[in-house]
Amino acid sequence: MNTISRSNQRWGRGVLTAVLFVAAVVQAAAAPPSKANVEKAMNAAYGKYRDLHEGKNADYIPALAEVDSNLFGIGLVTTDGKVYTKGDSEALFSIQSISKVFTLALVLKEAGPEAVQQNVGVDATGEVFNSITAIERYKGAQENPFVNPGAIATTGMVQGHEDADKWGKILQIHNDFAGRELVVNEPVYKSEAATNQRNQAIAWLMSAYGRIKDDPKMVTDVYTRQCAINVNAKDLAVMAATLANGGINPVTKKQVIPADDIPKILAIMATAGLYDDSGIWLYNVGLPAKSGVGGGIIAVSPGKFGIAAFSPPLDAAGNSVRAQRAIQDISNALDGNPYAVRPADKRVSTR
Ligand code: GLN
Repeated sequence: MNTISRSNQRWGRGVLTAVLFVAAVVQAAAAPPSKANVEKAMNAAYGKYRDLHEGKNADYIPALAEVDSNLFGIGLVTTDGKVYTKGDSEALFSIQSISKVFTLALVLKEAGPEAVQQNVGVDATGEVFNSITAIERYKGAQENPFVNPGAIATTGMVQGHEDADKWGKILQIHNDFAGRELVVNEPVYKSEAATNQRNQAIAWLMSAYGRIKDDPKMVTDVYTRQCAINVNAKDLAVMAATLANGGINPVTKKQVIPADDIPKILAIMATAGLYDDSGIWLYNVGLPAKSGVGGGIIAVSPGKFGIAAFSPPLDAAGNSVRAQRAIQDISNALDGNPYAVRPADKRVSTR
């Protein structure tokens, strides 16, 4: 062997060692938190916010005003499949806008990211989630799948032209993410179906701009039903953990969606997951998240855990007060923020 190839070989070995080292550091940085740390963080947050009664239930959907405002549940599921719960983690409530994440996942799987970007858009609108002005501004384009015009258009993109085709697949993907069979909260569905004239108007306008190809009335109805799927904080934590785990449900081990679709979903969660407060949330917590007017919030710490909290009273932006605080505290305690990478010997926050 001549000198050049020997030095090449040495160089190659050096590079391999460096790559393995970097991989090990990345691996360690993304390792799920320990049982002791999770329990400590969850107990602390639950105790701190149990008696916080700020905010008010959503009431524009009459049935949501009836939900017990005292309910407070937290769930956290690690990417290695450990499930932690606290408080009213089994209490069922309607998923509302959090369903937009999973219907988007289905459409990405069926139609691909390009189709979503073209037909719906992926930018924050800077307007309220059911804004009609935002539709008019760009003739139905440049919305995103988490505001109502974009979400209803996304539901419209689910393959199949009949209500039953679309609905069957939407419910199934929610089941796969949760790892169990979910059912619709009929009183919430009926309550919203009787009062969703604004969403119907949004759907017709999106249809007028060619963004919804099927019957807007049928698509709005399927959308309304997906928002009324009943979940609990534990279900939502498993669903979030599936997003943290490359699309594999860490409890059932089923590959629910392709890993390649996850960064697309998390990007929209980061920029538009908490309505007008998405920037404030990302600034303080750093986790892609999604809230619903039922009082649930999910957040994803990639490679580490999915977390969810539920408490019906909402703040002025429409996000659950206690769910936001609990998730923020727990994630910060567990070094959940993917942007906060520190050298291995300085992993503990100094703030
Ligand atoms: N079903 C609700 C609506 O369309 C969902 C809104 C939400 O959770 N932000 O108004």
